[in-house]
Amino acid sequence: MAAADTSRFFRARVSAITDLTPSFRRFTFAGDDLAEYGDPGFDQRVKIVFPTLTVGLDAMPTGEDWYLQWRDLPQDARPPFRTYTTRAVRADAHEVDIDMVAHDVQGPASAWIERAVVGDEVLIFAPTVAHTGVSFGIDFVPPARTDHMLLAGDETAAPALAVILEQLPEEACGVVVLEVPDPADAAYLPHHAGFEYVISARSDDRHAHLLPSVADAAARLAPAGRGAAVEEIDVDNEILWEVPRTAKGGAALKSAPLYAWLAGESGAIKTLRRQLVSEQGVDRRAVAFMGYWRLGKAEN
Ligand SMILES: Cc1cc2nc3c(=O)[nH]c(=O)nc-3n(C[C@H](O)[C@H](O)[C@H](O)COP(=O)(O)OP(=O)(O)OC[C@H]3O[C@@H](n4cnc5c(N)ncnc54)[C@H](O)[C@@H]3O)c2cc1C
Repeated sequence: MAAADTSRFFRARVSAITDLTPSFRRFTFAGDDLAEYGDPGFDQRVKIVFPTLTVGLDAMPTGEDWYLQWRDLPQDARPPFRTYTTRAVRADAHEVDIDMVAHDVQGPASAWIERAVVGDEVLIFAPTVAHTGVSFGIDFVPPARTDHMLLAGDETAAPALAVILEQLPEEACGVVVLEVPDPADAAYLPHHAGFEYVISARSDDRHAHLLPSVADAAARLAPAGRGAAVEEIDVDNEILWEVPRTAKGGAALKSAPLYAWLAGESGAIKTLRRQLVSEQGVDRRAVAFMGYWRLGKAEN
C-alpha cells in the first residue's frame, strides 16, 4: 500500500488534567473530531497551537499552506506552537493524552500548562487515522535486529520513552537513562522487564547524571568500536537532529549490536552523541539523536 501522510489540525478540548508526578502533568483532550486522530506509535511528534492572552486559536491558518501563512503574519498576531508527543490515543472514547512538563521558565506552552483548566481548547497538528506507511514524525527507527537498546533523555523525552517502552516487544532489552527534575518523577516511566532503569534527579550541575550514565551504559552494552569523526553542530543556530534512515524511512542498518535513541536539551545531546560515536565507537548509523529544546532559546 502506498504511504499517505494525512496530517491536519484537530481542535481539542481539555477534559481532564492529572498531575502524575511533581513535573509531569497529563492533559486529556476530548472532542468528536478526535475520532480521526491517528496513532502511528512510538515517539510520534505533534504540534500544539496554544492560545495566549492576546491571540486566540481562530487566528491560526489551518489550510494546506498553514506554515507559510503563519510565517507571513505579524509576529504579535501569530498563535505560538510547540512540539509534543502523543502519549495515548483512545479512539473509541475520542480522547488523546499528552503529558507536558511544567517548567518554571515562561514560554507560551509553559504559561498555558500553568493556567489551563478543563474546557480550554488547543489545536493539535497530528496524523489522521487515514495515515498509512512510514511516519516521518516517528524518529525511533531501530534496525530489525539489535542485541541491546540504549534509550536516554531528560524529562521532555520521557513521554516518548514511555510509549516506546510500552510498545517494544517483550524480548527487547537494554538500558534506559533518564534525568528528571524531582526524585518522585522516577515513577513516571512504565516498566519493561527487559530494561534496566537508571533514573536520577537533576542536581544544580545540569546533566551531571545523564552524561556519565549514558557513557557507562554504552561501555557495558557496545562492543568497543573504532571512533568516527562527527561534524560539529552549532546548537545555537542549527537544529540538532539526526535520525539514520533510508530514503523510504526504514532503519539505516538491518542489524546492529546496539541501537541508541537520545533526546533532550540540545547541548547535552550534542555531548552524548560525541561521546557515543567519536569516543566509544558506536556506529553512527545506529544512533538517533534529537535536540528537543535548547537552554535559553525559545523553540520558534
Ligand atoms: C519531538 C519533540 C517532542 C517533545 N515532546 C514533549 C512532550 O511530550 N512533553 C514535554 O513536556 N515537552 C516535549 N518537548 C519539549 C517542548 O517542545 C519544549 O520544552 C518547548 O520548548 C516548551 O515550550 P515553551 O513555550 O514552554 O518554552 P519556549 O518558548 O520554547 O522557551 C522559553 C524558555 O524556556 C526554556 N525551556 C523550554 N523547554 C524547557 C524545559 N523543558 N525545561 C526548562 N526550560 C525549558 C527555553 O530554553 C527558553 O529559555 C518535545 C520537543 C520535541 C522537539
